[in-house]
Amino acid sequence: SKRVAVLTSGGDAPGMNACIRAIVIACERHGFTLFGYQHGYNGLLEQEYEILALQATHNLIQQGGTVLHSARCEPFKTDEGAKTAATNLTELEIDTLIVIGGDGSFRGADHLADFWHGQIIGIPGTIDNDVAGTDATIGYYTAIDTVVSSIDKVRDTADAFERIFIVEVMGRHAGFLALNSALASAADYVILPETFQHCDAELDKITEQIEKRRQLKGAISFIIVVAENVWPGGLNDLADKLVSKTQSEVRPVTLGHVQRGGSPVSQDRLLATKLGTYAVSLVGSDTNGIMVGELNGTPSEIALTETWEKDKPLNPSSMETMLTIMNERY
Ligand code: ATP
Repeated sequence: SKRVAVLTSGGDAPGMNACIRAIVIACERHGFTLFGYQHGYNGLLEQEYEILALQATHNLIQQGGTVLHSARCEPFKTDEGAKTAATNLTELEIDTLIVIGGDGSFRGADHLADFWHGQIIGIPGTIDNDVAGTDATIGYYTAIDTVVSSIDKVRDTADAFERIFIVEVMGRHAGFLALNSALASAADYVILPETFQHCDAELDKITEQIEKRRQLKGAISFIIVVAENVWPGGLNDLADKLVSKTQSEVRPVTLGHVQRGGSPVSQDRLLATKLGTYAVSLVGSDTNGIMVGELNGTPSEIALTETWEKDKPLNPSSMETMLTIMNERY
C-alpha cells in the first residue's frame, strides 16, 4: 500500500482545506496512508507531520486557511535543504508527495526532485491565479468575492462624499484578481501589471475620465483598482499625484490580507475537491513532476516547470470588456 504525503506552501488560499479533505478521503478509499506535513516545506525539514485519517475531514470543506498551516521556507531553497527534505521523505518511505501551493512552491518541488526520486504532484492553490496549466487556482474565486464585497463598501462611502478612492488588490505579478474584481464591482479604472506602461500615461487617462464624468454629471465618486506593486512609488505616491492632477481629495485603501481569508465559495470547493481527488488517482502511476489542473472543465496535467515558465495571459474578453468600460463609461 502506498504512502502519500501532503503539504500546503506559500500564500494560503481559501479552499486549501477542501483540497486536503478530498485527498484524505481519496487516500482512505485507495487504502493509502496519508502523512500531513505542517508549515509548508519547514515540516519536511523538521520531519513535523501527522497521519491524516477520516476524522480530520469533519467540517473541513468550509474552513478558510489551512489546517496544515502554510509558510515560506528559505532554507529549503538551498541544495542542503532539499537534501534534508529528501532524506526525511525516504526515511518515512513516502511514495508520493502532493504540494498544494503557488508557482514558488512548485519551483521548490522541482528543486526537490533533483535529490528525491519519489513521485511529486502539485495542486494550484493561490488567490493570484498566476499559474499556467489551469484555468483557475484554488482560492481565486473566493478572493474575487472578498474584493468585490470590499469595493462595494468603499463605493458606498465614496458615493456619500463624492470622492476618489484607490483600492489596492493583491497579485503583484498577475492582474487576474484586480481585473476581474474591478469588472464585477463596476470600478471605474484598473491598473494592471500586464498593461501598465508609464505613470504619466495612466495619470492622464484617469484624469481625462474624471474630467469627462464631471462635465456630464457634476460631482462624482471614482474608484480605481490597482494591483499591488505595479505603481512604482507605491499607493501613497499615486494618491498624491492624483490629488495634484484632479484638485480633489483622494483616499487610498489597501485591502491586504483579508483577501486570503474566509470560507471558500462553492467554485473553490469544487475545484479543490476535483483536483485533490484527481491527484490521488495518479498515485503510483508513471506521471511525475506535474501539476494537476482544470482546463475547460476537464482535468489537466502540466509539467511543474511549465507552471511558471509558460505565460498565462489574462482572459481576453475580460480585458476587452474592462477597456470598453474604462473608455466609454461617462
Ligand atoms: P503565492 O504565490 O500564493 O505566494 P507561492 O507558492 O508562489 O504562493 P512562495 O513564497 O513564492 O509562494 O514559495 C513558497 C516556498 O517555496 C518558498 O518559501 C520556498 O521554500 C519554496 N521556493 C520558492 N521558490 C523556490 C526556488 N526557486 N527554489 C526552491 N524553492 C523555492
